[in-house]
Amino acid sequence: MAGCRSGQNAMAERSAALREVDRIDTGPRFMAEDAARLNERFADCTTLELLRAVLIDGVAGKVALVSSFGAESAVLLHLAAQVSRHVPVLFLETGKHFPETLAYRDTLVERLGLADLRNLTPDADVLAARDGNGLRWSFDPDGCCEIRKVAPLAGALAQFDASLTGRKSFQSATRANLPRFELDTSDAQGRLKINPLIDWSADDIQQWLDANHLPRHPLVALGYPSIGCSPCTSKVAPGEDPRSGRWKGWDKIECGIHGVAATENPEDLPPGYEPAF
Ligand code: SF4
Repeated sequence: MAGCRSGQNAMAERSAALREVDRIDTGPRFMAEDAARLNERFADCTTLELLRAVLIDGVAGKVALVSSFGAESAVLLHLAAQVSRHVPVLFLETGKHFPETLAYRDTLVERLGLADLRNLTPDADVLAARDGNGLRWSFDPDGCCEIRKVAPLAGALAQFDASLTGRKSFQSATRANLPRFELDTSDAQGRLKINPLIDWSADDIQQWLDANHLPRHPLVALGYPSIGCSPCTSKVAPGEDPRSGRWKGWDKIECGIHGVAATENPEDLPPGYEPAF
Protein backbone atom coordinates (compact mmCIF):
# COMPACT_ATOMS: atom_id res chain seq x y z
CA MET A 1 0.00 0.00 0.00
CA ALA A 2 1.95 3.02 -1.20
CA GLY A 3 1.64 5.94 1.16
CA CYS A 4 -0.11 3.72 3.65
CA ARG A 5 1.36 2.38 6.85
CA SER A 6 1.00 -1.39 6.97
CA GLY A 7 -2.19 -2.28 8.75
CA GLN A 8 -2.50 -4.99 11.33
CA ASN A 9 -5.90 -6.25 12.24
CA ALA A 10 -7.15 -4.17 15.17
CA MET A 11 -9.51 -6.94 16.18
CA ALA A 12 -6.70 -9.49 16.05
CA GLU A 13 -4.58 -7.22 18.24
CA ARG A 14 -7.34 -6.98 20.82
CA SER A 15 -8.06 -10.71 20.68
CA ALA A 16 -4.39 -11.52 21.17
CA ALA A 17 -4.22 -9.22 24.15
CA LEU A 18 -7.25 -10.89 25.67
CA ARG A 19 -5.85 -14.37 25.10
CA GLU A 20 -2.77 -13.33 27.05
CA VAL A 21 -4.87 -12.84 30.16
CA ASP A 22 -6.83 -16.01 29.41
CA ARG A 23 -10.42 -14.74 29.52
CA ILE A 24 -13.39 -14.73 27.18
CA ASP A 25 -13.95 -11.50 25.27
CA THR A 26 -17.50 -10.46 26.09
CA GLY A 27 -16.86 -6.76 25.59
CA PRO A 28 -17.54 -4.57 22.57
CA ARG A 29 -15.79 -5.40 19.33
CA PHE A 30 -14.03 -2.05 19.09
CA MET A 31 -13.40 0.87 21.39
CA ALA A 32 -12.77 4.56 20.76
CA GLU A 33 -9.02 4.02 20.93
CA ASP A 34 -9.26 1.41 18.14
CA ALA A 35 -10.98 3.98 15.91
CA ALA A 36 -8.33 6.57 16.79
CA ARG A 37 -5.55 4.10 16.02
CA LEU A 38 -7.08 3.21 12.66
CA ASN A 39 -7.49 6.90 11.78
CA GLU A 40 -3.82 7.43 12.48
CA ARG A 41 -2.75 4.31 10.64
CA PHE A 42 -4.75 5.06 7.51
CA ALA A 43 -4.35 8.84 7.49
CA ASP A 44 -2.18 8.81 4.37
CA CYS A 45 -4.01 6.11 2.45
CA THR A 46 -6.02 6.61 -0.68
CA THR A 47 -9.68 5.64 -0.57
CA LEU A 48 -9.01 2.46 -2.53
CA GLU A 49 -6.15 1.50 -0.21
CA LEU A 50 -8.45 1.99 2.73
CA LEU A 51 -11.17 -0.10 1.12
CA ARG A 52 -8.71 -2.90 0.36
CA ALA A 53 -7.55 -2.88 3.97
CA VAL A 54 -11.16 -3.07 5.15
CA LEU A 55 -12.69 -5.43 2.59
CA ILE A 56 -9.73 -7.71 1.84
CA ASP A 57 -7.34 -7.50 4.80
CA GLY A 58 -10.14 -7.40 7.36
CA VAL A 59 -8.80 -4.61 9.56
CA ALA A 60 -12.34 -3.89 10.75
CA GLY A 61 -13.65 -7.45 10.86
CA LYS A 62 -16.87 -8.36 9.03
CA VAL A 63 -18.09 -5.32 7.13
CA ALA A 64 -21.28 -4.29 5.31
CA LEU A 65 -21.81 -1.27 3.07
CA VAL A 66 -24.93 0.76 3.83
CA SER A 67 -26.27 2.53 0.75
CA SER A 68 -29.31 4.68 0.05
CA PHE A 69 -28.75 4.41 -3.72
CA GLY A 70 -29.12 8.17 -3.68
CA ALA A 71 -27.56 11.00 -5.63
CA GLU A 72 -23.89 10.15 -5.00
CA SER A 73 -24.10 6.52 -3.92
CA ALA A 74 -22.62 5.22 -7.15
CA VAL A 75 -19.15 6.45 -6.16
CA LEU A 76 -18.69 4.35 -3.03
CA LEU A 77 -20.47 1.38 -4.60
CA HIS A 78 -18.18 1.59 -7.63
CA LEU A 79 -15.03 1.85 -5.49
CA ALA A 80 -16.12 -1.01 -3.24
CA ALA A 81 -17.03 -3.20 -6.22
CA GLN A 82 -13.52 -2.74 -7.59
CA VAL A 83 -12.20 -4.27 -4.38
CA SER A 84 -14.89 -6.90 -3.79
CA ARG A 85 -18.19 -7.42 -5.56
CA HIS A 86 -19.24 -9.65 -2.72
CA VAL A 87 -19.40 -6.94 -0.08
CA PRO A 88 -22.85 -7.13 1.56
CA VAL A 89 -24.78 -4.00 0.48
CA LEU A 90 -27.59 -3.05 2.86
CA PHE A 91 -30.47 -1.03 1.43
CA LEU A 92 -33.25 0.22 3.67
CA GLU A 93 -36.35 -0.62 1.68
CA THR A 94 -38.65 1.66 3.67
CA GLY A 95 -41.60 1.31 1.33
CA LYS A 96 -41.48 5.08 0.81
CA HIS A 97 -38.82 5.44 -1.87
CA PHE A 98 -39.25 7.16 -5.20
CA PRO A 99 -39.74 4.52 -7.91
CA GLU A 100 -36.72 6.11 -9.59
CA THR A 101 -34.56 5.14 -6.61
CA LEU A 102 -35.62 1.50 -6.78
CA ALA A 103 -34.92 1.39 -10.50
CA TYR A 104 -31.56 3.11 -9.94
CA ARG A 105 -30.68 0.54 -7.26
CA ASP A 106 -31.32 -2.27 -9.72
CA THR A 107 -29.35 -0.51 -12.47
CA LEU A 108 -26.30 0.01 -10.26
CA VAL A 109 -26.37 -3.49 -8.82
CA GLU A 110 -26.34 -4.95 -12.32
CA ARG A 111 -23.84 -2.50 -13.77
CA LEU A 112 -21.35 -2.89 -10.91
CA GLY A 113 -21.89 -6.63 -10.52
CA LEU A 114 -22.74 -6.35 -6.85
CA ALA A 115 -23.45 -9.89 -5.71
CA ASP A 116 -24.87 -9.42 -2.24
CA LEU A 117 -27.60 -6.78 -2.14
CA ARG A 118 -29.77 -7.08 0.98
CA ASN A 119 -33.09 -5.18 1.07
CA LEU A 120 -34.01 -4.47 4.68
CA THR A 121 -37.75 -4.08 5.25
CA PRO A 122 -39.60 -2.93 8.39
CA ASP A 123 -41.12 -5.51 10.71
CA ALA A 124 -44.65 -6.12 9.35
CA ASP A 125 -46.28 -6.32 12.79
CA VAL A 126 -44.61 -3.12 14.01
CA LEU A 127 -45.58 -1.38 10.81
CA ALA A 128 -49.20 -2.45 11.14
CA ALA A 129 -49.36 -1.39 14.79
CA ARG A 130 -47.59 1.95 14.52
CA ASP A 131 -48.02 3.11 10.96
CA GLY A 132 -51.09 1.33 9.70
CA ASN A 133 -52.10 4.14 7.35
CA GLY A 134 -48.53 4.82 6.19
CA LEU A 135 -48.67 8.48 7.22
CA ARG A 136 -46.52 8.46 10.31
CA TRP A 137 -43.88 10.42 8.40
CA SER A 138 -46.31 13.38 8.27
CA PHE A 139 -46.58 13.93 12.03
CA ASP A 140 -43.71 11.93 13.54
CA PRO A 141 -40.82 11.53 11.12
CA ASP A 142 -38.49 10.38 13.91
CA GLY A 143 -40.88 7.58 14.76
CA CYS A 144 -41.33 6.70 11.09
CA CYS A 145 -37.55 6.55 10.57
CA GLU A 146 -37.23 4.42 13.70
CA ILE A 147 -39.69 1.86 12.32
CA ARG A 148 -38.59 1.91 8.70
CA LYS A 149 -34.86 2.58 8.98
CA VAL A 150 -33.26 2.48 12.41
CA ALA A 151 -34.71 -0.81 13.68
CA PRO A 152 -34.23 -2.80 10.44
CA LEU A 153 -30.65 -1.58 10.13
CA ALA A 154 -29.86 -2.32 13.75
CA GLY A 155 -31.10 -5.87 13.27
CA ALA A 156 -29.03 -6.38 10.13
CA LEU A 157 -25.85 -4.83 11.54
CA ALA A 158 -25.88 -7.10 14.59
CA GLN A 159 -23.97 -9.68 12.57
CA PHE A 160 -21.30 -7.22 11.40
CA ASP A 161 -18.30 -5.60 13.06
CA ALA A 162 -18.37 -2.42 11.00
CA SER A 163 -20.35 -0.56 8.35
CA LEU A 164 -19.22 1.55 5.42
CA THR A 165 -21.11 4.78 4.83
CA GLY A 166 -21.04 7.25 1.94
CA ARG A 167 -21.03 10.36 4.11
CA LYS A 168 -19.00 13.38 2.99
CA SER A 169 -18.00 16.34 5.12
CA PHE A 170 -19.27 18.88 2.59
CA GLN A 171 -22.82 17.54 2.78
CA SER A 172 -23.83 19.35 5.96
CA ALA A 173 -22.53 20.97 9.12
CA THR A 174 -23.28 17.80 11.08
CA ARG A 175 -20.90 15.81 8.89
CA ALA A 176 -18.16 18.42 8.58
CA ASN A 177 -15.77 16.98 11.16
CA LEU A 178 -16.32 13.27 10.93
CA PRO A 179 -13.22 11.04 10.83
CA ARG A 180 -12.69 8.07 8.51
CA PHE A 181 -13.17 5.62 11.37
CA GLU A 182 -15.55 6.28 14.23
CA LEU A 183 -17.21 4.22 16.90
CA ASP A 184 -20.84 3.43 16.08
CA THR A 185 -22.64 4.59 19.21
CA SER A 186 -26.11 3.44 18.15
CA ASP A 187 -25.79 0.51 20.57
CA ALA A 188 -23.23 -1.04 22.91
CA GLN A 189 -21.85 -3.55 20.39
CA GLY A 190 -18.75 -1.49 19.63
CA ARG A 191 -19.02 -1.59 15.87
CA LEU A 192 -17.01 0.76 13.71
CA LYS A 193 -18.52 3.17 11.24
CA ILE A 194 -16.19 3.80 8.31
CA ASN A 195 -16.50 6.88 6.11
CA PRO A 196 -14.15 6.32 3.14
CA LEU A 197 -15.39 9.41 1.24
CA ILE A 198 -15.43 11.82 4.15
CA ASP A 199 -12.64 13.96 2.64
CA TRP A 200 -14.00 13.95 -0.92
CA SER A 201 -15.24 17.27 -2.25
CA ALA A 202 -18.35 17.73 -4.35
CA ASP A 203 -16.05 18.17 -7.36
CA ASP A 204 -14.22 14.92 -6.56
CA ILE A 205 -17.55 13.11 -6.57
CA GLN A 206 -18.63 14.60 -9.88
CA GLN A 207 -15.27 13.90 -11.49
CA TRP A 208 -15.37 10.28 -10.38
CA LEU A 209 -18.91 9.87 -11.72
CA ASP A 210 -17.86 11.44 -15.03
CA ALA A 211 -14.54 9.64 -15.42
CA ASN A 212 -16.12 6.26 -14.80
CA HIS A 213 -19.29 6.94 -16.81
CA LEU A 214 -21.43 5.95 -13.86
CA PRO A 215 -25.21 6.23 -14.24
CA ARG A 216 -26.82 9.14 -12.35
CA HIS A 217 -29.86 9.06 -10.19
CA PRO A 218 -32.52 10.51 -12.52
CA LEU A 219 -33.86 12.90 -9.86
CA VAL A 220 -30.58 14.82 -9.56
CA ALA A 221 -31.23 16.53 -12.87
CA LEU A 222 -34.66 17.53 -11.57
CA GLY A 223 -33.24 19.48 -8.59
CA TYR A 224 -32.76 16.84 -5.89
CA PRO A 225 -29.10 16.78 -4.77
CA SER A 226 -29.89 14.57 -1.75
CA ILE A 227 -32.50 11.86 -2.12
CA GLY A 228 -34.26 9.88 0.58
CA CYS A 229 -37.85 8.74 0.95
CA SER A 230 -40.27 10.52 -1.37
CA PRO A 231 -42.50 12.19 1.29
CA CYS A 232 -39.45 13.65 3.05
CA THR A 233 -37.39 14.85 0.09
CA SER A 234 -37.80 18.28 -1.53
CA LYS A 235 -36.00 20.12 -4.29
CA VAL A 236 -33.08 22.33 -3.26
CA ALA A 237 -32.30 25.73 -4.71
CA PRO A 238 -28.83 26.26 -6.22
CA GLY A 239 -26.33 27.22 -3.49
CA GLU A 240 -28.36 25.75 -0.62
CA ASP A 241 -27.05 23.01 1.68
CA PRO A 242 -27.53 19.85 -0.41
CA ARG A 243 -29.31 18.14 2.49
CA SER A 244 -31.64 21.05 3.21
CA GLY A 245 -34.30 19.37 1.10
CA ARG A 246 -34.56 16.49 3.56
CA TRP A 247 -37.44 16.74 6.06
CA LYS A 248 -38.01 20.32 4.98
CA GLY A 249 -39.96 22.25 7.60
CA TRP A 250 -38.96 19.85 10.37
CA ASP A 251 -36.26 20.23 13.01
CA LYS A 252 -34.70 17.04 11.71
CA ILE A 253 -31.49 16.61 9.77
CA GLU A 254 -30.67 12.90 9.97
CA CYS A 255 -32.84 9.80 9.83
CA GLY A 256 -31.42 8.34 13.04
CA ILE A 257 -29.24 5.59 11.57
CA HIS A 258 -26.26 7.83 12.25
CA GLY A 259 -26.92 8.15 15.95
CA VAL A 260 -29.53 10.89 16.30
CA ALA A 261 -32.04 9.79 18.91
CA ALA A 262 -35.48 8.81 17.72
CA THR A 263 -38.72 9.69 19.41
CA GLU A 264 -39.13 8.11 22.83
CA ASN A 265 -42.82 7.25 22.38
CA PRO A 266 -43.23 6.34 18.76
CA GLU A 267 -46.79 5.10 19.16
CA ASP A 268 -48.09 8.35 20.66
CA LEU A 269 -50.23 10.27 18.22
CA PRO A 270 -50.92 13.97 18.59
CA PRO A 271 -54.31 14.57 20.31
CA GLY A 272 -57.08 14.62 17.73
CA TYR A 273 -54.66 13.90 14.93
CA GLU A 274 -56.27 13.50 11.51
CA PRO A 275 -54.18 13.06 8.41
CA ALA A 276 -54.78 16.04 6.16
CA PHE A 277 -53.86 14.32 2.91
S1 SF4 B 1 -37.38 9.47 5.58
FE1 SF4 B 1 -39.57 9.99 5.86
S2 SF4 B 1 -40.78 8.31 4.96
FE2 SF4 B 1 -38.62 7.62 5.16
S3 SF4 B 1 -38.57 6.51 7.05
FE3 SF4 B 1 -37.95 8.62 7.55
S4 SF4 B 1 -39.84 9.76 8.04
FE4 SF4 B 1 -40.42 7.78 7.09
